[in-house]
Amino acid sequence: MTDTAEFLIIGGGLEGLAIAWSLAERGATDILVLERATLCSGMTGKSSGVVRCHYGAPSLAAMSWWSVPFFENAADILGDDLGFTQCGYAVGVGADNLEPLKANVAMQQALGIEVDLIGQDDMARLWPGLRVDDFAGIAYEPRGGRGEAYLTGMAFATAARRLGVQVRQQTPVAELLTAAGRVIGARLADGAEVHAATTVLAAGPWTPALAATAAVPVEVKAQRAQLILIDQGEPMPQVPVLSDLASLQYLCREPNGELLVGNSDHAVPEYLDPDDFVNRADAATVEKVIGRLDHRLPHMPDPRVTGSYVGAYDVTPDYNPIIGPAPVPGLFLATGFSGHGFKISPAVGGLVADLLLHGRTDLPNVDAADFRYERFAQGRPLLSPHPYAGAGEMR
Ligand SMILES: Cc1cc2nc3c(=O)[nH]c(=O)nc-3n(C[C@H](O)[C@H](O)[C@H](O)COP(=O)(O)OP(=O)(O)OC[C@H]3O[C@@H](n4cnc5c(N)ncnc54)[C@H](O)[C@@H]3O)c2cc1C
Repeated sequence: MTDTAEFLIIGGGLEGLAIAWSLAERGATDILVLERATLCSGMTGKSSGVVRCHYGAPSLAAMSWWSVPFFENAADILGDDLGFTQCGYAVGVGADNLEPLKANVAMQQALGIEVDLIGQDDMARLWPGLRVDDFAGIAYEPRGGRGEAYLTGMAFATAARRLGVQVRQQTPVAELLTAAGRVIGARLADGAEVHAATTVLAAGPWTPALAATAAVPVEVKAQRAQLILIDQGEPMPQVPVLSDLASLQYLCREPNGELLVGNSDHAVPEYLDPDDFVNRADAATVEKVIGRLDHRLPHMPDPRVTGSYVGAYDVTPDYNPIIGPAPVPGLFLATGFSGHGFKISPAVGGLVADLLLHGRTDLPNVDAADFRYERFAQGRPLLSPHPYAGAGEMR
């Protein structure tokens, strides 16, 4: 049996669903999403959900900034509560990273982003009990915070279906189909074919294997991310999300008052097989987190580790996404989100839909060419002009 679609989207994660909704919302029809398991069961389900605009690459910062009002007004736009908590976002750096911090904040302010340098006293007020004396500089975004990637993806899915998008779950794609030098759709694991004018590959860390079936090499690796949950002995009051670039970790308050701790030290990345990995943090990482937390939050009443899990960032060589046409006509890539994909997901949907429907985008301060597939072969990766020592993810 052969089905057809104008737009075939492979991957029912946050990005594929944001793209499907954005296409439909701009008036496109005949959109089909194929998901091998259940919606948002891939890495979206592992997301920490941090919303910040603190990036060194202006296009990425601009995509985050464009997405903030979307999160703020999601109930009106998508008709669903996304669980967004606007608790603010702070990034603190040691003396070695003070100059990059100032340069990045100046760039972000020039884009219109609401961010300011704040003092140690201000930070201590925002987070009572937080050790701040080794932060040589702190930037604060009052409109940052924390969302729920699963809820966001499902809200995109619900709204997209309302607009007529077809979503099929438990439908693994086995390979891309090519004919006369272009991708013409996909063959499913059960042998059925779907033919499409445009195929969008948004399969997270599974993208390279699928792209390879059309002889398209995609430079995306699955980088291990270990997350630790801490109960500090009493519920944490609402505090901002903190990127602690002095200790190279980030802290988020969970809705139940626990702390979620993630790693920001990418000096020695580890990679995993996204279909076969141990879903808990290793003892050495737990020890490291405890040591760093003892330093950062020295007055926790009775701290204990309550859990841990592991996810995979789909990282590119420059830690920025690939969003654009593949070198084979008919195929469009939206992958390699490198740990940034939640906060920019509304803009990703908009950008991809704009490019597919109009060949250009009006997203302010976003240069679509920054995310082009070819940049690695051209030796022109998208790098921050002011990178932070040690913190690859923050680039
Ligand atoms: C641990 C962790 C923490 C993160 N924290 C943050 C954060 O704080 N802030 C932020 O902005 N971003 C964060 N991110 C990044 C963000 O969550 C991701 O970029 C985003 O959720 C990825 O969405 P996706 O749709 O690209 O990929 P996925 O959610 O992985 O979706 C891809 C989908 O493709 C499907 N698929 C795979 N192969 C096939 C096939 N053959 N056929 C059909 N379907 C297939 C999979 O089942 C999956 O559902 C984090 C990511 C991780 C892993």
